[in-house]
Amino acid sequence: MLRYCGKPPLPTTDNRRPATPGIPISILRQRCPRCRKGAIYRCSLFRGWLSMYERCPVCGLKFEREQGYFVGAMYISYALAIPPYLLLVTGFWRLAGWRYEWALLGAVAAYLPFVPMAMRISRVIWMYIDQAFDPER
Ligand SMILES: [Zn+2]
Repeated sequence: MLRYCGKPPLPTTDNRRPATPGIPISILRQRCPRCRKGAIYRCSLFRGWLSMYERCPVCGLKFEREQGYFVGAMYISYALAIPPYLLLVTGFWRLAGWRYEWALLGAVAAYLPFVPMAMRISRVIWMYIDQAFDPER
């Protein structure tokens, strides 16, 4: 039985939108990598940050294909974190005049609130990459 946090996932058809959105839009909307319509996450970021459906509500694709599947998403998360972290360090160090060590720590603290969002989107990107190289039918 499916459990929802609030409203159920979007219906499969919506007359205001194209039938299948492009990959970047689908990634940002956190939709299934196969059908690009079914929601991946049950809840919004603030109600359950990693609460995923086991399978796509639309096409039935199993999201976590095997145990430890999302370990690969850590590489994506790391790659997503580096540019904003470096910008924050540069901002604190060069623009605000902080000591370099404090700029490093300040950037970690400033980036921490964005970690849940980065983890969610990195899992989605990981699933899209995996589906591109090894599609599950
Ligand atoms: Zn799907």
